[in-house]
Amino acid sequence: MLTRYAVALSALFLPACDMVAALTGDADPNADLPPCVDNVCTCGDFRTQGDAQHVLDSFWDDQYGLDGDGNGTACERLPATAPPLAPATYFSNSPHLAFGNPSNADPDNANNFLIEKDEYALAYSAEQGRLLWAGWHVNFDWLGRTGRQDDFRPDGTLPKGVYQVTPRDYSGYDRGHMVPSGDRTANPGVNSETFLMTNIFPQTAANNRGPWREFENYGRDLIYQQGKSLYVLGGIYGQRDSLADGKITVPSRTWKVMLIFDTPNPTAANVTPQTEIIAVDMPNSRRIDDQWQTYLTSIDRIELATGYDLLSDVPEEIQAVIEARR
Ligand code: MN
Ligand code: MN
Repeated sequence: MLTRYAVALSALFLPACDMVAALTGDADPNADLPPCVDNVCTCGDFRTQGDAQHVLDSFWDDQYGLDGDGNGTACERLPATAPPLAPATYFSNSPHLAFGNPSNADPDNANNFLIEKDEYALAYSAEQGRLLWAGWHVNFDWLGRTGRQDDFRPDGTLPKGVYQVTPRDYSGYDRGHMVPSGDRTANPGVNSETFLMTNIFPQTAANNRGPWREFENYGRDLIYQQGKSLYVLGGIYGQRDSLADGKITVPSRTWKVMLIFDTPNPTAANVTPQTEIIAVDMPNSRRIDDQWQTYLTSIDRIELATGYDLLSDVPEEIQAVIEARR
């Protein structure tokens, strides 16, 4: 309860415009909590026991059943600590990393493995058998008339000895794209790169064909109808299940951040406190609301849940403004 009170208190010291937002209800009452508390949390959504405990302690009742045995301790089976964010040791000129490298992935770490392609940049975890996040630009140049190539296949760029996820591994789940096939339709070559299994994750049909798809379509409509361009970061985290004898961890949450620009090829230098940003974080569940707007959140809250630093190449003072916005 102390945390709720602290949030209310901090509203008293906000600048005038934020003050109005706070008073009119735009302020996010759960700003210091992970996005799952807005819909449904499970123990699999948290990196550490402490993160789960913070959620349990923030509400008067245990609405998500995080403390099944009622002993006051949430999610006992979670680890006590999570690895800190890796130091930034790798420099890249990829335009798809122009806003930063959220997990400081690099090509020498199999569990935070950076894959750079002309079409996108992506971080992959060998031990989880899945991507961590991907970043990509979308503008008119990436969009055309090419249909889905549907050539799902293992990604040969993974280090030797890493389990190669195959298109047959996902029983019970959709082969969900992180970088959407629909964002890469300029020619068959660029579209085909989205069907590498490193860009695919086990996604419930309800998420993939529901609010996730609606949000993808919303982004492309901004390009087609309003001439905007996008920089998108998307990722997955948590565990709801596993596949392929434990070699693939099925995520419990899916998130995406869309930065919307008027200029066709934006970089971090184009980000201002006024830059339009949409962030969503959804359960990878079989029951889900079809409206993507239900899952609006802030970048700060995605960072809290994942341990990443999104938009790290944007100046700190601008990150502070845009990442707190819902
Ligand atoms: Mn999809
Ligand atoms: Mn950040």
